[in-house]
Amino acid sequence: MEYKDVVEMIRKEDIQFIRLQFSDISGNIKNVEIPSQELEKAFEKGIMFDGSSIEGFVRIEESDMYLKPDISTFAILPWTTNGSKSARFICDVYKPDGTPFDGDPRYRLKLIVEKARKMGFEAFAGPEIEFFVLPRDEKGFPQPTLLDFGSYFDLLPLDEVESLRSEVAVALKSMGIDVEASHHEVAPSQHEVDFRYGDLLKTADNTQTVKLVLKTIAIKHNLHVTFMPKPFFGINGSGMHTHLSLFKNGENAFYDQDSSDGLSKTLHHFVGGILKYAKEITAITNPIVNSYKRLVPGYEAPVNIAWSKANRSALIRIPAARKNSTRIEYRSPDPSCNAYLAFAVIVGAGLEGIEKKIEPPLPIEENIYAMSEEKRAEFKIDSLPGSLKEALEEMKNSELVKEILGDHIFKKFVELKRREWRDFSITVTDWEIRNYLRV
Ligand code: GLU
Ligand code: MG
Ligand code: MG
Repeated sequence: MEYKDVVEMIRKEDIQFIRLQFSDISGNIKNVEIPSQELEKAFEKGIMFDGSSIEGFVRIEESDMYLKPDISTFAILPWTTNGSKSARFICDVYKPDGTPFDGDPRYRLKLIVEKARKMGFEAFAGPEIEFFVLPRDEKGFPQPTLLDFGSYFDLLPLDEVESLRSEVAVALKSMGIDVEASHHEVAPSQHEVDFRYGDLLKTADNTQTVKLVLKTIAIKHNLHVTFMPKPFFGINGSGMHTHLSLFKNGENAFYDQDSSDGLSKTLHHFVGGILKYAKEITAITNPIVNSYKRLVPGYEAPVNIAWSKANRSALIRIPAARKNSTRIEYRSPDPSCNAYLAFAVIVGAGLEGIEKKIEPPLPIEENIYAMSEEKRAEFKIDSLPGSLKEALEEMKNSELVKEILGDHIFKKFVELKRREWRDFSITVTDWEIRNYLRV
């Protein structure tokens, strides 16, 4: 779409306001609203905002930042505010001197896209976003109560949640996002939305949009959508499995028709890179204290650093599809992650594997959860970090993650998350009260 088409659409649809969106380090969507008449200025000069008030952005004394809309992200929001229609653009963040701001997560992902391109590849991603739908109390506060007893692919009577899911699919379609599947997940009150895969940047943008639309439409139904990875003990948590593929000259570079299993050397090296750096990138793909309560055996979430052609207990699974659909599924990310940063570190690790020709270990086809510790040791199967603290320790020493995130985000992320861990570790939990009050 060109600028003049956007202007025409804004006039025709009587759009009063434009929301300029971007994401902070934690992946929260931020936005500035401008009247439609200001759009030209936004495209020419950018819109100034105060970066010091955004999590992980800049210090007070250097706080002027500019937002520049990316025209390809134009979409009319599928709801009105006080009766008026608005549209949104996803923006890039620039410094006053006109250069891209190093701490903008979208910019870091663009650098990885560029790196892949220099190596002759275009990278594609498709996440499976899982979430719980919860009720709210009369004041609107979300309640940790399960709403149904449904399970995988259940078709429940047409209730509030079913209508939420279909309304979300229609809203996303109107914004140019095709929902390919939307279904009840394994746990009660748990659901999943899968949208059509696309290039890395578009898919990260779409992930942000899907999360925003789910949360916003849920409010209309007096419901709450949570992307908290493990809201309930004893049942499955929510993951954001991410399917990835590389294309070279329009052909799937993970497919090799001459190899016995159809998988190319490029795929092997990509997997080798991700497995090698898996521990170092986990703080980014699983960024909150609660993320690690999901990464435990028995709930279809990965724990062990291994790959497999079928087994869902491995960190990387290779779905059965071949030819142009040949891809890997990276199973550790959860939906609390910042999709820009998560895709950047996963693909960055994979590309490193291709550059350095890192051979992966042999694939494991047994159920790893059921293996004895001795057997895991024999196969040299390592585990993902067990807590946010451990994950930060791994990340802190990672040259690769530092290079991918840039100094700014790397430093701010570690600072932010260390604080989060410290707060958690000095908090007295319900579990402690239940178990230790009698001491
Ligand atoms: N909810 C599971 C997880 O936490 C995934 C279930 C599935 O395979 O879709 O990763
Ligand atoms: Mg699922
Ligand atoms: Mg999956």
